[in-house]
Amino acid sequence: MPMAPAAAAGALPAPIEHEHVVVRRGPRSELYTIVAVHSTALGPALGGCRLWRYPDVAAGLRDALRLSSAMTLKAAAAGLDLGGGKGVICRQSDAPPSGPARRAALADFAEIVEALGGSYVTSEDVGTGASDMIVIAETTDHVTGLPVEHGGSGDPSPFTARGVEAAMRASCARAFGSPELAGRRVAVVGLGRVGACLARRLAAAGAQLVLSDIDEGRRALAAELPGASWVDPTTALAADVDVLAPCALGGILEEAIVPRLRCAVICGAANNQLAHDAIAGELAARGILYAPDFIANAGGLIHVSAEFTGADPARMEARVDRLEEDMGAILDEAAAAGTTPLAAAGERARRQLAGVAR
Ligand code: NAD
Repeated sequence: MPMAPAAAAGALPAPIEHEHVVVRRGPRSELYTIVAVHSTALGPALGGCRLWRYPDVAAGLRDALRLSSAMTLKAAAAGLDLGGGKGVICRQSDAPPSGPARRAALADFAEIVEALGGSYVTSEDVGTGASDMIVIAETTDHVTGLPVEHGGSGDPSPFTARGVEAAMRASCARAFGSPELAGRRVAVVGLGRVGACLARRLAAAGAQLVLSDIDEGRRALAAELPGASWVDPTTALAADVDVLAPCALGGILEEAIVPRLRCAVICGAANNQLAHDAIAGELAARGILYAPDFIANAGGLIHVSAEFTGADPARMEARVDRLEEDMGAILDEAAAAGTTPLAAAGERARRQLAGVAR
């Protein structure tokens, strides 16, 4: 059975800073559905819909609360006119719902999104995809990431992967003195939409890859990409590599793993990679450069934001590539201030939010 994200363990954040939180048992599906609107200070709260199996509803709620506040920071740090939100559908069985049961869960979720009147806008996330967004769009207009033929901007994952690669270059420049990825050993943990795309990009850039996923079906990618090897996720996390790229679920970097890490840089797509913020200090103390996830993985959000601004997609690609500069500036700010990159990135986002509050 897939594990629930470790980040979902523990108490609810106190105080809860969110503007609006809905927890509802779906009348059709009987599945618990959560929508957390953390902030609309900069614009509508955008965040994907996660369909996952949690130990209990409280764990799903904790995940939604934490993921939605990270979305606020992500949008603010990227300078986007968007707020932070997240949707969670707590599935009950090992296998994801399919057919009419899946449609029922999505209709229940869409009803909440519609009732929020646009303060929350949904998109794809772990466990949901473009076909699910089409079903949700039958009930509400407050959905992004629809396929282009359905009037949307398409799957944001390739842009997320592009941005992670840009952020990785900046991280390598600070850690090794060169942004060059050719010859770098990189472990990609999680080979879903973003991880697989990132692995292909890194292979094309000449990196030596260690690939891993709990789904053995993803193993074919290691056979396909030149020089790539396949290991189990626990081995991959502690692999002797230059860069670790977490691209699965959150909370993967917790106390027990930190002493076992053998990478110099952590830069990946997963949201909320740190089990809690203090891990950033532990990583810094071990000399590991942690590229804050909400900066590194902003490419998809930047791409989707064009649906609100009508911006030219080519301009958005250039903006995604600028994540290399953004990440470089944050790492330099952290070094100059003697703080962690996480603190510097949080500060950048809070400055943006404070500008609006004035
Ligand atoms: P996905 O569901 O397509 O892929 C996730 C992959 O991780 C799956 O292949 C799954 O089998 C694997 N996995 C799950 N638990 C694992 C574990 N313990 N060890 C190894 N592999 C594991 O999801 P995605 O869209 O590729 O997103 C990946 C991560 O990036 C998520 O944390 C997501 O929130 C984040 N993210 C995604 C986007 C995007 O554009 N899709 C944008 C920003 C952030």
